[in-house]
Amino acid sequence: MIDLETPVAELLDSTHGKPKLLLVDDQPINIQVMYRCFAGDYQVFMATSGEQALSLCRSNPPDLILLDVVMPGLDGFEVCKLLKADPITQHIPVIFVTAHTDSVQETYGLSIGAIDFIAKPVNPDVVRARVKTHLTLKFQSDLLRKLVFLDGLTGAFNRRYFDQQICTEWGRAARNNTPMSLILLDVDFFKLFNDSYGHQAGDDALRAVANALKSCLRRPADLVARYGGEEFACVLPETSYLDALAIADELERKIRSLAIAHKNSNVAEVLTISLGLATRVGSSPSEVQDLIALADNLLYQAKHSGRGRVCSSVLATLA
Ligand code: GH3
Ligand code: MG
Ligand code: MG
Repeated sequence: MIDLETPVAELLDSTHGKPKLLLVDDQPINIQVMYRCFAGDYQVFMATSGEQALSLCRSNPPDLILLDVVMPGLDGFEVCKLLKADPITQHIPVIFVTAHTDSVQETYGLSIGAIDFIAKPVNPDVVRARVKTHLTLKFQSDLLRKLVFLDGLTGAFNRRYFDQQICTEWGRAARNNTPMSLILLDVDFFKLFNDSYGHQAGDDALRAVANALKSCLRRPADLVARYGGEEFACVLPETSYLDALAIADELERKIRSLAIAHKNSNVAEVLTISLGLATRVGSSPSEVQDLIALADNLLYQAKHSGRGRVCSSVLATLA
């Protein structure tokens, strides 16, 4: 059964606080009028040119943009096209606000990705109502986009996200010639755990393991994914072998310290994990699949040399 409680609560938390609105108009008087419509319920940001709007959107993406069409320099249509072409800004809804509405302009604006057109002078109640509707839809689609990449039981990222991110990080490491590490880990004797304590307790244990793993990873780029049933993966970009080894050891200790009773385990009286750590260094000619295969082999070694331990290696590089 899928339990979406954890991820949904987390995601809703992240949208708490006042939504961020960006007002873009070359006439400060127009911005003032709009500002009065929204101050109070929103965090309002302002830009008086297309260039300024683009740089604000990249550094601090708003939840919605009210964009003037006619401006010197980059006009509203150009700004909208650039926003929709950039993965960082493409999901920000754009509403055009313009004095010159005709059906050709309006159709063009919608065809390049705007969600709505509002005529100046604006009616405060109408503009507030439209913004609220579009924001609700925006938050719902943000939520769906995130849920597609989350594991329903544990709230960790899912296998689909792992497959995508490990390739992205591998590409980045290869381009920048930086190390990256991958830890694959698997709960020990988990079938026996389910048999002893029931499937529900097994599910609770998997959630506790996922949370404990997340709590040990501190960098924003680090990620924990549920790789399979009781198997997890930690992707550690720009992390050297020795730093990753320290993290793997910490993960192993952390799970023991949860002190989840496992009376039928041969390893300890509590739940334990086995870990395989593989690190890519330097300008390795290998491929991402080699790193995954190595981590998997090392996990197998950890299992077969007694469980409850880390086996680790650097991915061999050709001279
Ligand atoms: P090993 O130490 O060799 O890894 O032994 P193991 O028993 O952990 O490995 P095995 O692959 O034999 O069994 C894995 C068990 O994990 C069996 C399966 O029922 C359980 N499992 C997988 N996904 C879930 C889940 O979502 N919830 C629960 N409760 N159990 C799960
Ligand atoms: Mg197992
Ligand atoms: Mg397994």
